Amino acid sequence: MKPMPLVAGNWKMNGLRASQAELDALKHMIAEAPPQCEVLICPPFTLVGAFSAASGETIGIGGQDCHAKVSGAHTGDISAAMLKDCGAKYVIVGHSERRADHGETDDMVRAKAEAVLAEGLVAIVCAGEREDVRDAGKACEHVLSQLASSVPEGATPENTVIAYEPVWAIGTGRTPTTGNLEEMHGAIRAALVERFGAAGNGFRILYGGSVNAGNARDLMAVANVDGGLVGGASLKAADFNGIMDAYRG
Ligand code: PEP
Repeated sequence: MKPMPLVAGNWKMNGLRASQAELDALKHMIAEAPPQCEVLICPPFTLVGAFSAASGETIGIGGQDCHAKVSGAHTGDISAAMLKDCGAKYVIVGHSERRADHGETDDMVRAKAEAVLAEGLVAIVCAGEREDVRDAGKACEHVLSQLASSVPEGATPENTVIAYEPVWAIGTGRTPTTGNLEEMHGAIRAALVERFGAAGNGFRILYGGSVNAGNARDLMAVANVDGGLVGGASLKAADFNGIMDAYRG
């Protein structure tokens, strides 16, 4: 059976308390025309508690990162337990901006994902190639290697979501061809089945990178694309809601 798609918004370092108006607006739009997908917003840590309290049943709230430990002397960090305590249901780990800005390695990402699973939350594990890696013809090899090391042994379709996000497509307005996307998502699916057996068919594999209301329908229709991870176009309710049209009749 095909898994329920997930459309997740990654607000990155954007959003103040007043931004709750966008959440409220999205809630109304979804109530008026419910999409056939799960909807998630990952705001900055400062808004996770308020958004969780306000989001209702139709929109899930998640964190954008967490520390691998539950608590301790790690100034400025946030644990999965703290996110759970604020109402988060999901945590993104291994986003390429974390890997680039904070030197996060596959081993660190796996440790974070394990911490997410230990709290009973769902980890969204990100992977994606830089443009020079794609140009060298090594995109699939690179992404499969990242995922082999970043996805924990205890991953199941219920507790883990995969997000394929080519670095060169994030925030650039560029997207892979549907052919390239089908090839990558097919390769990820095959690797999941090889590692987890039949359960590998149940994992959701999201595509992320310059998804918007204009291209979502085509991108989400590609085989083995089970939803999207959306940055810039998730900040405004109307834009994000337009992407959800890919999952409305
Ligand atoms: C992201 O950073 O996860 C992302 C997909 O960003 P954008 O949609 O802005 O390309």
